[in-house]
Amino acid sequence: MSKIHNFSAGPAILPKEVIQNCADAILNFAGTNLSLIEVSHRSKEYVAVMDEARSLVKKIMNLGDDYEVVYLQGGASLQFLMTAMNLLENKAAYINTGTWAKKAIKEAKAFGTVDVLGSSEDKNFSYIPKNYTISSDYDYFHCTSNNTISGTQMQSFPDCPVPLVCDMSSDIFSRELDFSKFDLIYAGAQKNMGPAGTTLVVVKKSILGKVSRYIPTMLDYTTHIDKDSMFNTPSVFAVYGCLQTLKWIDKQGLASIEKLNTQKADLLYNEIDANDLFVGTTAVEDRSKMNVTFLLKDESKNEAFLAACAAANISGIKGHRSVGGFRASMYNALGLDSVQVLVEVIKNFK
Ligand SMILES: *Cc1c(COP(=O)(O)O)cnc(C)c1O
Repeated sequence: MSKIHNFSAGPAILPKEVIQNCADAILNFAGTNLSLIEVSHRSKEYVAVMDEARSLVKKIMNLGDDYEVVYLQGGASLQFLMTAMNLLENKAAYINTGTWAKKAIKEAKAFGTVDVLGSSEDKNFSYIPKNYTISSDYDYFHCTSNNTISGTQMQSFPDCPVPLVCDMSSDIFSRELDFSKFDLIYAGAQKNMGPAGTTLVVVKKSILGKVSRYIPTMLDYTTHIDKDSMFNTPSVFAVYGCLQTLKWIDKQGLASIEKLNTQKADLLYNEIDANDLFVGTTAVEDRSKMNVTFLLKDESKNEAFLAACAAANISGIKGHRSVGGFRASMYNALGLDSVQVLVEVIKNFK
């Protein structure tokens, strides 16, 4: 079987050893002679999986006991409303950097006043707005660290006098960051940390319990924290997959992962910039290292380029309909060799 170069935006490429470990556990979980998907989530073997999946996140992020880690369901999309329901008493500040940010803003408006401090919608979200200040009377500030669809990424985060809430779905664990600057981080697993079906939430405990509304039990972060992320049946398979990925990340460290991600991104952007036929869609200083969006100047050749990619075993390269053209998603597990194959196809395309 020839290797497929998987540039899918999500669900996305996972390390081979993660997939192998998941396959093994489906057949025989932790020596129980039972499948991972047919044992109680309260069994000691599974409780150990959940415990390690939670503690490893804090280890990799270098966070202390003031933070809690839970694995929830409902995707990052549920976090759009859950963050607001748990944190928004009067008003919150958002920046509008793309499709996902816009959805977060829409949900938050159901719970209070939302001020959009910056937006790049005027240029189809091709840049990250920067000239804004966050005043201290907001309940929190919400941003999206990486815009999966439009291909931009925050290279730095603003000084924030209020709790900093961040949707890191598509670049979690892709680079070194001072994670202690953030008060709540959420990420759907299926982009860079595991199979679809669970959402990682990392939250600083001190920001919770400050709103006056009734929060339904399942939507209250405290419910899940108090029960060690086992209030109800968790996504057992997805969390197991996340744990395998976390171990893979922990072995390498974020510094070396970031280095490779930078190398991959430089290789592809350099070719796009050097090539007369192609053009990037985003402001150079805001380019995402995870999702590289680019166009053929002559769009009538799009189908021919997709065919050339397919012939080279490149999968998942078609752009999102809102941007058009192409999108190469280059998450942690994608090797440099796959990017080299794509660059060759771009070079040789006439
Ligand atoms: C994919 C994505 C989402 C939506 O995630 P779901 O888990 O499908 O709800 C939200 N935010 C960002 C940045 C994403 O990339």
